[in-house]
Amino acid sequence: MSLQNPVFIPGPTNMPESLRRACDMPTIDHRSDLFKDILHPARDGVKRVLKSAVAEVFVFPSTGTGGWETAITNTLTPGDTVLAARNGMFSQKWIDMCQRHGLTVEIIETPWGEGIPTARFEEILTADTAHKIKAVLATHNETATGVRSDIAGVRRAMDAAKHPALLFVDGVSSIGSMPFEFDGWKIDVAVTGSQKGFMLPAGLGIAAFSPKAMAAVETGGLPRTYFDIRDMVKGYAINGYPYTPAVGLLNGLKTASEMLMEEGLDNVFARHTRIATGVRAAVQAWGLQLCAIRPDLYSDTVSAIRTPEGFDAGRIVSHASKRYGVAFGAGLGQVAGKVFRIGHLGSLTDVLMLSGLATAEMAMADLGLDIRLGSGVAAAQEVYRRTAAPVALAA
Ligand code: PLP
Repeated sequence: MSLQNPVFIPGPTNMPESLRRACDMPTIDHRSDLFKDILHPARDGVKRVLKSAVAEVFVFPSTGTGGWETAITNTLTPGDTVLAARNGMFSQKWIDMCQRHGLTVEIIETPWGEGIPTARFEEILTADTAHKIKAVLATHNETATGVRSDIAGVRRAMDAAKHPALLFVDGVSSIGSMPFEFDGWKIDVAVTGSQKGFMLPAGLGIAAFSPKAMAAVETGGLPRTYFDIRDMVKGYAINGYPYTPAVGLLNGLKTASEMLMEEGLDNVFARHTRIATGVRAAVQAWGLQLCAIRPDLYSDTVSAIRTPEGFDAGRIVSHASKRYGVAFGAGLGQVAGKVFRIGHLGSLTDVLMLSGLATAEMAMADLGLDIRLGSGVAAAQEVYRRTAAPVALAA
């Protein structure tokens, strides 16, 4: 018998059995009428999860990185300037992509562990009276540091500066798990992938465009073919794709959004907050610090935990994997070796989380860190006892 532990990496997440079944479907002809009953509900489902009445949703056989590329190549022109804060590995990679596409990036260096400096953004946008900046890039949830930035605050900064730039938001590790308001925050392009809040395997890159972003497609654009949404628009109009779609994953996406709506988005978000609060209580009980430097920055989908100076945090990840068959996330970039990450998003319950915390404790104790077995688990148990919400048992 092959047994499998849950994973505690910040995506791909654990997969509910119903989604595994939804992806595992017989081949259909994607040019037949059968496909439209998968394609359109999947796109509409994403729109509901984004809380949008206006977004045009595009789904590529790709990943979140393809979503970034879709955002920039469809709306910007070579030489355009974009504004971005660099506060973690993912904001860094999006900046790098922009530079490699010939865009000029006004980079606001921000400590890893901090969020997007909205006041600084407002100053810069206010000073940009010539409107050189064409887009503001915002990573909602920095998966490398466990930092949630204030996207409503970024929008307020743009409005206060009366700046017409487009607002692009990376919601790869927040959409479907943490409050996200496409219309409310007046987002122009939101990007995600299938393997986080939607609890599917990796393989879909998702980008949602506002009417303003759709208008920019008419006048702008970098060289693009695969990610050209104009081809996608034409394909969708005749219930198809400009190339071969990932039908099984799209069927999974349709089912995933139905599942999220059935649980209720507010309940999904509350579950993530509750589970994350338990993890944070455990971290405190262990006497360790989060990479995120203030409570208002704490992510509800991933916690990056600093280990004592001189201790290689990567050892926890490899030891837990080898000895206990449990996956945690390693530190990335600037914080490699300094943090390990516990992913707590997607298909997860309080009880599963307790097993992850217990494993982290065993691994840290095995490696000689001063951790009392049960201390973090007990702290999380107290949170979960206080806030328990009944979980429907799967049939
Ligand atoms: N943005 C964030 C915040 C992420 O966490 C990730 C991946 O983990 C990406 C972008 C890149 O997405 P992908 O790996 O699906 O290409």
